[in-house]
Amino acid sequence: MQTAIATVCLSGTLREKLEAIAAARFTGVEIFENDLLSFNGSPKEARNIIADLGLKTITFQPFRDFEGMPEPQRARVFARAERKFDVMQELDCDLLMVCSNVSPEAIGGIERAVADFHELGEMAAKRGMRVAFEALAWGRHINDYRDAWEVVRRANHPAVGLVLDSFHTLARGTDLKALRAVPKDRIFLVQIADAPKLEMDYLSWSRHYRCFPGQGELPVQDFMVALQATGYDDLLSLEIFNDRFRAGSARSVALDGHRSLIYMLDELRATTGVPVPGQALLPDRARCAGVEFVEFAMEEGEAGRFEKVLAGLGFQLSGVHRSKAVKRWRQGSINLLVNREKEGFAHSYNITHGAAVCAIALQVEDANATVDRAIKLLDQPFRQAVGPGELDIPAVRGVGGSLLYFVDQANGLNRLWDVDFVTPEPQKPQSGKLTGIDHISQSMEYEEMLTWLLFYASLLDVSKTPTLDVLDPGGVVQSQVIQNADGSVRLALNGSQSRQTLASRFLNEVFGSGVQHIALATDDIFATIAQLRENGVEMLQIPENYYDDLEARLGLSDAEMARLRDNNVLYDREGTGEFFQIYTGNLLEGGFFFEIVERRAYSGFGAVNAPIRLAAQTRLASPPAIPRH
Ligand code: MG
Ligand code: MG
Repeated sequence: MQTAIATVCLSGTLREKLEAIAAARFTGVEIFENDLLSFNGSPKEARNIIADLGLKTITFQPFRDFEGMPEPQRARVFARAERKFDVMQELDCDLLMVCSNVSPEAIGGIERAVADFHELGEMAAKRGMRVAFEALAWGRHINDYRDAWEVVRRANHPAVGLVLDSFHTLARGTDLKALRAVPKDRIFLVQIADAPKLEMDYLSWSRHYRCFPGQGELPVQDFMVALQATGYDDLLSLEIFNDRFRAGSARSVALDGHRSLIYMLDELRATTGVPVPGQALLPDRARCAGVEFVEFAMEEGEAGRFEKVLAGLGFQLSGVHRSKAVKRWRQGSINLLVNREKEGFAHSYNITHGAAVCAIALQVEDANATVDRAIKLLDQPFRQAVGPGELDIPAVRGVGGSLLYFVDQANGLNRLWDVDFVTPEPQKPQSGKLTGIDHISQSMEYEEMLTWLLFYASLLDVSKTPTLDVLDPGGVVQSQVIQNADGSVRLALNGSQSRQTLASRFLNEVFGSGVQHIALATDDIFATIAQLRENGVEMLQIPENYYDDLEARLGLSDAEMARLRDNNVLYDREGTGEFFQIYTGNLLEGGFFFEIVERRAYSGFGAVNAPIRLAAQTRLASPPAIPRH
C-alpha cells in the first residue's frame, strides 16, 4: 500500500505544500490542477521539485464534466483531455482522475458514458497513460461507485479504471457489498476522507468539512474492510477539503495526515487480523490507568505564591527531587510537581509560556511500548539528561510543546517517588479532602483541535465525546473530551475561534496552547468548601440569578438551594446523577485555575454551567470599569 496526499489538503504555495508532504514522509502526491495553475513555473519545473523531494506524482486531478456530453461539447472535452495529457507528460504523471459529470448539459445513459471512456482510454494508452473514474456524491447522472464501476467494467479497456473515494461512498450511505467484488486491478486509486456527521448538501459538506480518518464520524473502517476484501494493495491517498486545514500550518497538517493513515491501517489490521502490506506493526494503543503527575514550571516568586495556594487546598509537601529544584505536592492520588529549575526543559518552557503546566504523566501498562507506538505514529519523542541512578522516564511532545510522560510498573518507572525524590520527615497524616484528578482541560487554537484529538486517539486507548459548543461571553468555544473506559484519564480539549473568549485570552497570555484548568475530585464538596474557607482559599463567586434559574428548572428544596447558593456551587443533574462544581480564582499570570468537583453517578462535565462560570471569570479578568464623574 503506497500512501499519498493531495496538494489540495494543505495551505501555501505548491512548493510549500510539496515540502510539507515530503517532510511528513509521504512518497506520493496528487497534484490538484489549481495548485499547478497558480505555480510560478512550468509543469517541468514542478516535476523537478517533486523529484528532488523524493516524491512521485500519482495522479493529476480533477478532470471535470467529461462523460455523456452531446456534440459539439463532446469534441471540446476530448480536446481538453488531450491538453491535460500534455501537461501530465511534462509533469511525469501517468494517471488522470476524472470525476463524474455535474453539468446540466450532460446526457445520461450508461452506453454513452462507456463509449466516452473507451475512447478516452484509447487516447491515454497511446501516450502510455491511464484514466480513472470517480463518482461524485453529487454527480448529475453518476453519483454512486457502483454505477462508475459499471461504466469502467463495460468500457473494458486496460487504461480505464475506477477511483474509490470513502467520502462519496459513505456520505450517501451507499452499500459496501458491491465494493468487495470489484477486481483489485481495476481499482486505480483509493481516496480516503472522513467527516463529521452533518445535515447539509453533499457538495458543501465535502468541500468544507472533510477531515482525516479518525477525526470525523463516518464509518471509514467499514469502507477499508470492504476494500481489503478485494485484495487491493495499491495507492491510498488523502483528499481532504477543510477550511481549518487551509488555515493551519501545511507541515503540521501533512504530518497529521500521515499519522491518520498509519492509525487507520493499524486499526484495520486489528479489526480483521489481516496484515496490511508495507505497514509496520504497531504496539496496541496504550491502556491508561490514571494521571501519575502534573508538572508546573515557574520562577521562584510565583512558585512560592502558588505553593501557598496548594497548601490551602490541602496539598502536602511530600517530596523534594534529589538533583533538581522540583517539589512534589500530594493529596489523595494527586501529585503536582512545582519545577523551579534554571535550566533544562521546564525552564525553557517557562521562558516561552510563562508559569504553566509543562508536563503531564500518564500511567500506562508499558511505557516503552507506548513510546514505540508514538514514534511509529510520527509523534516526537523526548528525552533529557537525568542524574546518576535516576529514572529515565520516556515522553513525547504534546499540546503546545509540553511533554506527555509515561510511567509504568513493567519497567519499574512507578518507583519514581522513591528513586528520584526524598520524602521529608515526618509526614503529617493527610487532612485534605481531594481524592484524585477528575479531568485536565487544555485550551488551543480552533485549528489545532483536530491535531490533538488525533494525537491522543491514535496513541491511547481512549474514546471521544461528541463536540459541544460552549458559549463564552466573548464567543463560542468548541469542546470535546478524550477519556478512557473507566474515566481515570479525562482530557477536555477546548478550541476557540474568537479572539475575545477566555480560552483565547489564555492562549495569548500563556503564549500558546496548554492546560488552562485542572479539575480535582472530592467525595464531599461541602466538607471541602468548609476546609477551604478555614484555610482562607478564595473561590469564584456565582451570581444570584443562576440560583433563581436553577430553582425554577430543577425544583430543589429550599435547604438544598441555600446550601448551593451560600457556597457558590454550580450544580447539574443527569437522570438521578448529580454534579457539584466550584472554582478557584486565576492562580497564575496566564489565567490557570483549579476546579473542584463531586460526581454522584454523573458522567458529564457540567457543560450547562460553563457559560455561567465563564461569565463570572470574565468579570474577574476584565479591567475595572472607568468610574463616571
Ligand atoms: Mg475524490
Ligand atoms: Mg471542567
